[in-house]
Amino acid sequence: MKITMIGSGYVGLVSGVCFAEFGHDVVCMDLNADKIEGLKKGGIPIFEPGLEEMTLDNVKAGRLTFTTDIKAAVAGAEVVFIGVGTPPHPETGHADLKYVYAAARDIARSVEGFTVVVTKSTVPVGTGDEVERIIRETNPDADVAVVSNPEFLREGAAIKDFMIPNRIVVGIEDERARSVMTEVYRPLFINQSPLMFTTRRTSELIKYAANAFLAMKITYINEMADLCEAVGANVQEVARGIGLDNRIGTKFLHAGPGYGGSCFPKDTLALVKTAQDFGAPIRLIETTVEINDARKSKMTKKVIKALGGSVAGKTVALLGLTFKPETDDMRDSPAITIIEELVEAGAAIRAFDPEGMENAKAVLPPITYCEGAYDAATGADAVVIVTEWNEFRGLDLKRIKAALKSPVLVDLRNIYRREEVARHGFTYSSIGRPSED
Ligand code: NAD
Repeated sequence: MKITMIGSGYVGLVSGVCFAEFGHDVVCMDLNADKIEGLKKGGIPIFEPGLEEMTLDNVKAGRLTFTTDIKAAVAGAEVVFIGVGTPPHPETGHADLKYVYAAARDIARSVEGFTVVVTKSTVPVGTGDEVERIIRETNPDADVAVVSNPEFLREGAAIKDFMIPNRIVVGIEDERARSVMTEVYRPLFINQSPLMFTTRRTSELIKYAANAFLAMKITYINEMADLCEAVGANVQEVARGIGLDNRIGTKFLHAGPGYGGSCFPKDTLALVKTAQDFGAPIRLIETTVEINDARKSKMTKKVIKALGGSVAGKTVALLGLTFKPETDDMRDSPAITIIEELVEAGAAIRAFDPEGMENAKAVLPPITYCEGAYDAATGADAVVIVTEWNEFRGLDLKRIKAALKSPVLVDLRNIYRREEVARHGFTYSSIGRPSED
């Protein structure tokens, strides 16, 4: 099949490359000329495990090309996916749909023959209706079926998630789209991935309902961690004890510094706004958003407490900047708030992240970027682990201690055991485990 992807970011590029891997002919289009020029030369603009190899293979096989020319990309395509960003609107908190609507107008001007236009971006209920209206208004002759097909991949495991999804949700209003979308995903449901067809509005809502539920689950265990600290219980054992009940499940029960990233913060907020607009407020998610916002500052206070009540004039080594490991994405990472507040409180920061430092430079106040964990610890008053990259899980604690001015370790991801760290002479604080003081 001939497939075009409008927007070649985390979702557009991964989806486009994976569709090419299925054997489809794919064009990835983006307005960002630098990105496209780079891709044409084999440069992958994001860090995502396995993506570079799969991209180069499919380019070589002649199934994958890149362009900034929307007209050429859309003309002749059987399916056009919209995978552009939907960031929160700076004033309202609603999903800002200007990129989606601009793409819809561009597509309308270029379609030839019957074309299925698929919104893969995360968009509020009713966006598909508006995309369809815009296309018909821009080009009354366009013969299109507008479909919703939200993406559930996780950064850091994006290729695996795309290739072996738990489900593929497709929302249609025009029956002609059913066979086309079935053909697009045929290689996957042969692999037992359920293809679920529903209406367009239901499909749009499924994406938000899923992300809000996961954000709520994280927030639940984070609050439970606070209670564990107050009563002297262990949140990891609470999580295991409840998670073994398969009605609850063990996933997303890791207490930490609060959720971040390009999806949960913006999607929870957008769902809250949509629900309020339709007069059906979802108070659980309103509260989830509030608790998570406050949590990051709580983490700053934990660090300040571990350093004796003040960080003025002190140096903090901070390990991990991205919102989770195996990505270079800094969007809404808890590290941003923690660093801003520590700097505000007078601390100097020595930071290291395996992949995120370039993106971090664009969003953080001036701090010192280091070559590795031991370099970051050199001369610092404390080490704070913010993101659980694998390389921070087995640090040589003797070496870290020798590099530090004082042996203080704050582990916001619970990747160490108190006894082990104490044996090396560290003062240790973590999340929701006994002896948090
Ligand atoms: P991104 O910012 O990485 O990529 C968006 C790309 O779209 C950019 O390269 C931008 O230049 C391009 N673009 C914008 N307007 C365009 C236009 N009119 N024509 C062509 N290109 C255009 O964003 P992302 O993280 O890939 O997210 C895209 C959508 O997918 C969002 O709605 C997001 O919520 C959703 N989503 C993201 C993830 C994730 O993990 N990142 C997962 C599931 C869903």
